[in-house]
Formats: sequence, C-alpha cells, structure tokens
Amino acid sequence: MKYLDEFSDPELAGKLLDQIRALATRRWAIMEVCGGQTHSIIRHGIDQLLPQQIEMIHGPGCPVCVTPLEIIDKALEIAARPDVIFCSFGDMLRVPGSSSDLFRIKSAGGDVRVVYSPLDALTIAKENPGRQVVFFGIGFETTAPANAMTVYQANRLGIENFSLLVSHVLVPPAMAAIMDSPECRVQAFLAAGHVCSVMGTSEYPALAEKYKVPIVVTGFEPLDLLEGIRKTVLQLESGRYEVENAYARAVTAQGNTAAKAMLEDVFAVSDRTWRGIGSIPDSGWQLAPKYAYFDAEERFSVTDIHTDESSVCRSGEVLQGLIKPHECSAFGKECTPRNPLGATMVSSEGACAAYYLYRRLELQEAGHAG
Ligand code: SF4
Repeated sequence: MKYLDEFSDPELAGKLLDQIRALATRRWAIMEVCGGQTHSIIRHGIDQLLPQQIEMIHGPGCPVCVTPLEIIDKALEIAARPDVIFCSFGDMLRVPGSSSDLFRIKSAGGDVRVVYSPLDALTIAKENPGRQVVFFGIGFETTAPANAMTVYQANRLGIENFSLLVSHVLVPPAMAAIMDSPECRVQAFLAAGHVCSVMGTSEYPALAEKYKVPIVVTGFEPLDLLEGIRKTVLQLESGRYEVENAYARAVTAQGNTAAKAMLEDVFAVSDRTWRGIGSIPDSGWQLAPKYAYFDAEERFSVTDIHTDESSVCRSGEVLQGLIKPHECSAFGKECTPRNPLGATMVSSEGACAAYYLYRRLELQEAGHAG
C-alpha cells in the first residue's frame, strides 16, 4: 500500500473482520494501550464491528490524560510569575488543575505561549535573555526525544534562562502495573506503534512472558488495528503469548537508535505519578544529574506542591480499563469537552472525549448520557 487512505479500505476491513469472527470462539478482552488507537477505534466504530466476543478495553496511553494534577498545579504556579514566559503545546492549556488552568492564567496576564516544538521555546529564550522561559515537557517516549534534544541544545549553547518542567512517562511499566492490578481483566495488548517507532520492541518479550499475554504492535489506521486484533485473537485462541509487529512500515526491533541515545544522555529513569492511577515505580523520566540545572521544578522551588485528585472524576478507572466513560455519572452532564472535569475529557486522545464526540447521541438514546 502507498497512501494512507488505503489503510481504511472497506473491502479489506470486511475481510479482516470475517477472519476475526471465524477465529474467535470465546470472550477475549484486549487493551489498546494508546489514546490514538482508542480515538481511531471509536471514530471508525471498530469496537462495534467486532464480534461480541471481543471487548476492547481503552488503556492509559493519552499523554495529557495521565499528566498528574500536581504537575498541572506546578505549571500554573510557574506560569503566573511575572518574569516567566511559559511555553506549552496547545492541548495542555485547557487541562484543569485543582483551581485553574493555563488559559485562565493567560487571561489574567500570565505570559503563556503555545508553541509547536520545544525548540521554539529555546528560540524564545534566546530572544528574551532577561526573562525565564519554561517548556512544559509532558508525554510518553514519543515526545521525549525532542524535549531531550532541547535541553541538550540549551546546555550546549549556554542558554541559561531556559528550563523544562518534566512529566514524562513510560509505557511498559504502566502495562505491568495494569497486569499487577487485582481487578485486571486484560488478556492481550495492542502496543502503541509510535512509542515502538522510537523505543523498538525489545522491552516487550519479558512482559509477554511474565504475564502470559500476547503483545501486538499496531498503527492507527483501521486496517492497522484490525490486523493487530486478528493477530492477537489468533495468539489467544492458540494459547500463545508472543510479541508481534503489525506496524512494520514504521517500527523496527531496535527503534530509533539516535533518539534513544539522546534520551539516555539527558534523562534518568524515575518513579512517576500517573493521574488517576497513582505512583508507578520506574515509570518515567527526570532530567539526569548533569542536566539538573534545567529542571524547572527546582529552579522555581515548586517541588513541595502536592495535590489530591478530584473525588468526582473516575478517569483513573477509565484509564485502567475498569469502566467505560459513559459509566461515569458526570459523563455528558457536568463533564463535557467545553467544561471538562478530568483530563480524559480534555484531550482529543482521551477516552471520555472520544466517547463524547462519536458515541454521545447513541448513548443518549440508550439513556447513558446527558
Ligand atoms: S466523564 Fe469526566 S468526570 Fe467522568 S471520568 Fe471522564 S473526565 Fe472524569
């Protein structure tokens, strides 16, 4: 195949669905790890086209959704300072902290700027030597290389008024935490293709072996996902638990070695708190000691800010696949994309937002949404 829309070909999708139907002899619960996969599954109605035996559980792989409230509050505290230019990707501006968000800080006079690359923040730092410039570095293994490169360049060029507010998380430890949960129903994973395009697949065989779960790497188009589900069901039905790559056009076993070298130089593995899930050991990155000078938390003395999660929002259960979004009583009522109570409703990759965008009308008819 040559063009992206060929990966949505209805005839080929129908053939894959027929094969999945023929393979599935019993109920299986498969978690798609990434929010991009979730969005595509709900948008294209793939979960509704699958045979009833196959349940798709929506995993925690949305970077905005898992960024803890505490880090949002730290960002708000730093962004409100008059000497700071606070730079972020646009999707973080509406994420609610415990009492405000970055849009409100901006409307109250804070210098909050949307950038399209962390390197843009470095340019702003060069152009404003008398002010502190902070970039909000969140996300998984996918966004981390560019943030690592920015810190590397700031150090190399001696740009001392730049710092990074780091909230990077890692996918494999979260998959292990999900499998360790006593309430876990997951029997197989669709691993996130873009994460594997950076990191490769070498971390997954140990997980597949330890938890006896098939792990199939997929892309994000309908045929990518259906082929991944087909390979997963084939493994489940035959009692195998192996790592397979159904996204070979982007993913190699070794990943992007240049990006991995940059990550290894700039970051060090650390415990991280995941919004709605809690602390997971060794599940993220912080700046390595030799780059500690660029750590915004230390520079602005916000390490002591601690925040409790909202008791209303059940996004933690959504992110662990324990409930579907519409099973939260606030879904479509108090909580909508215009007035989100939790991060899974803010981000376009969030499961709550995906259900609101693509399922709200049918859920309303069934009496599940406001
Ligand atoms: S619908 Fe809103 S309140 Fe409920 S879990 Fe999702 S984000 Fe949280």
